[in-house]
Amino acid sequence: MSYPDTAASERDGAPAADRTRIVIVGGVAGGMSAAARARRLDEHADIVVLEQGAYVSFANCGLPYHLSGEIERREDLLLHTPESLARTLNLDVRTHHRATAVDRERREVAVAGPDGTYRLPYDALLLAPGAVPVLPPIEGLDHRAVHSLRTVPDLDGIQAAVGELLRSRPAGDQPRAVVVGAGFIGLEAVEALVGRGLSVDLVELGDHVLPPLDVELAPLVEAELRAHDVGLHVGVSARTITDGPAGAATVTLSDGTALPADLVVVNVGVRPASTLAAEAGLELGPRGGIRVDGDQRTSDPHIWAVGDAVEVRHAVTGTYGTVPLAGPANRQGRRAADSMCGHRTTPQQPVLGTAIVRVFGLTAAVTGANQATLRSAGVTHEVVHVHPGHHAGYFPGAEQVHLVASFAPDGRLLGAQAVGRAGVDKRIDVLATALRAGMAADDLAELELAYAPPYGSAKDPVNMLGFVAQNVLDGTMPQWQAWDLDSVRADTLVLDVRSREEHANGHLEGALLVPHTELRERIDEVRAAAAGRPVSVHCASGVRSYLATRILRGEGLDARNLSGGWLTLTALRPEAVAHPASV
Ligand code: FAD
Repeated sequence: MSYPDTAASERDGAPAADRTRIVIVGGVAGGMSAAARARRLDEHADIVVLEQGAYVSFANCGLPYHLSGEIERREDLLLHTPESLARTLNLDVRTHHRATAVDRERREVAVAGPDGTYRLPYDALLLAPGAVPVLPPIEGLDHRAVHSLRTVPDLDGIQAAVGELLRSRPAGDQPRAVVVGAGFIGLEAVEALVGRGLSVDLVELGDHVLPPLDVELAPLVEAELRAHDVGLHVGVSARTITDGPAGAATVTLSDGTALPADLVVVNVGVRPASTLAAEAGLELGPRGGIRVDGDQRTSDPHIWAVGDAVEVRHAVTGTYGTVPLAGPANRQGRRAADSMCGHRTTPQQPVLGTAIVRVFGLTAAVTGANQATLRSAGVTHEVVHVHPGHHAGYFPGAEQVHLVASFAPDGRLLGAQAVGRAGVDKRIDVLATALRAGMAADDLAELELAYAPPYGSAKDPVNMLGFVAQNVLDGTMPQWQAWDLDSVRADTLVLDVRSREEHANGHLEGALLVPHTELRERIDEVRAAAAGRPVSVHCASGVRSYLATRILRGEGLDARNLSGGWLTLTALRPEAVAHPASV
């Protein structure tokens, strides 16, 4: 097939000179959203989509779920073909065509296709080239056992390797995989490979899996991985991948561990695919993302950019960075098309980075700024933890939702995270909406959320976050945090107000046990033990210790409550638990 040097086609009879020539580089999330919207806005525009790969409009987010077998048919991942896009949207989609340069003076894109190179003029150019994988410094990344999971051909390669391993092994000889990188895609790959019957080791350089997750929630995800026999290697890097025994590879880690691997999947993150933009002299941000204005327009008024390739402003910190997620890419694509077609635009909102992942039976989700980000941005904040049931406790099947949220001193919500077996997606979406709306603790407390016992509670977990934050911010309930344990033990009386049975199952050495129902009668004992020091109270989740804190403060003691209670403390500091109890 050969293409004319202009995108104009005479199909609908309008003179080519009158038509807007829109060229889009990248034919998946952002690019294809823009192409479809542009067609809906301008029936006569010439719209050419250049895609260097073989597939357009494929469901990259669905790839791990075809590997797992949940999406059974590979073709279900391929949402459109160039032919279907020509039929339905009159788009000129050219696969295996790579944009190699942009001539901004002449407003032309240089293209390399199967039949050679050509130049394509544009009135409006959209860059939606996505991201490129970060290649970690591992010797042997070119080993035949190594794959990454980004594209349909990547998936095909992994599928073929897994199929071959399962076919060629006698029963009982379980193939082994090593997944390098415990981010969202790495975790989805782990789950899929375990589901296919492989024995999996997971390697993560950061100090916990799923680095965007706050440090006190990550142990819940790690426990779920261990419960599914995933070997966890956290805080170490993969150094070399070499030939091992019996045709397998050996992945050697920075701590010297040698992991046998029939398959290695490396997904350690991405960086913006901004080379084309950089070579064209477009302005980039400090992290290499293409800089755009609120309408997705780059520093050249005829060029727009969207998706993983652009830098965005973080809604909470105001800093610029990249947020490689499908939702922002799709919305930006729509906005860019509006702008290119001269339609009313809704200016780009700063990005919250709302994201969610399933890890076997658990769901983990984040929105807004996590605590590490707030600390490094120097944002003063209070953190609250709650662990309510995802629906009324008296209704069968209630599962605990572990929620963490950060608030500014004026009560404004800054970020929230949730981990649990049910109801996590609903809470994080409510919290993401609250963040977008600029809500504060008082607003969360007042949110009127749907309730019947199978679905929620009259005080929804999101309301609970609001109540607790109100109590912290207005001084009703001063709190202490699990990460302050060492100074708290050194400088205060630790008061455990759980039951004797709970204490017997594990406690903090040196803590005074006074079950909360006995506290009023034993207040003098607590006062004597405190000897003028503050009292740091804890129970299992923070509810009984809140009551105790109020009793103690009513009696004139300087009491504070452990945020998130024993559940949060033991997730963060499991080694601090003394067993067995001697009561
Ligand atoms: P892409 O969708 O990656 O499209 C860019 C396209 O441009 C590519 O096909 C590329 O070949 C093409 N291209 C690049 N350069 C050129 C060139 N010079 N000429 C022609 N074509 C070019 N996000 C979520 O929010 N939730 C999820 O669950 C989720 N799961 C994911 C799972 C996987 C396995 C992967 C890989 C990503 C996942 N993402 C998820 C991220 C999400 O898919 C991306 O953020 C989104 O696709 C970015 O859209 P984009 O248009 O910027 O880039």
